[in-house]
Amino acid sequence: MASLTNRSKVLEQTPLNFMERLYLPNIFKGMAITFSHIFKKKATISYPEEKRPFSPVFRGLHVLNRDEEGRENCTACGLCAVACPAEAITMEGAERQKNEEHLYREEKYAAKYEINMLRCIFCGLCEEACPKDAIYMSETFAPSNFTRQGFIYSKDELLIPDPTTNKEGYEAARGLREAQIKK
Ligand code: SF4
Ligand code: SF4
Repeated sequence: MASLTNRSKVLEQTPLNFMERLYLPNIFKGMAITFSHIFKKKATISYPEEKRPFSPVFRGLHVLNRDEEGRENCTACGLCAVACPAEAITMEGAERQKNEEHLYREEKYAAKYEINMLRCIFCGLCEEACPKDAIYMSETFAPSNFTRQGFIYSKDELLIPDPTTNKEGYEAARGLREAQIKK
């Protein structure tokens, strides 16, 4: 048969010797290796009951932030969407009305804010681009889903709980990542 290189080798099957034909020594050898691993520390964990600690620089699911008075930080400036290399972020801005000062920190806010997690590469550029500390990446994963639409996160899903009405939820969503990075 023609060969493109001269690196091919013709392998010949050597006949098995008596010990090899018994098979038992090799079976015991394999069992010994298996048993030796029983007493070693396991490399695997029982996820989701058990979870590995995250790296301080782990970038998880996005969270839209509020200030300590519960007002939304996002001013719909669009810098995160411009910075996003995957074009995963879409938004629509709206003007804050007179009686909405307690809802939105700035005069303009995001009436619609969506992130397509199937496009997102979790690079963190949106977080870096934001001048208002309005978006950051938490320590949680985007949960699995059966539909593509389920991976398009709306503003309601991204918005952090209001710290004035749900302090525990707010603290849990903030997580430890920010504190770990500051250390
Ligand atoms: S993490 Fe990166 S890819 Fe994902 S939305 Fe932010 S900028 Fe886009
Ligand atoms: S999240 Fe930040 S960068 Fe993006 S629109 Fe809102 S304020 Fe601007």
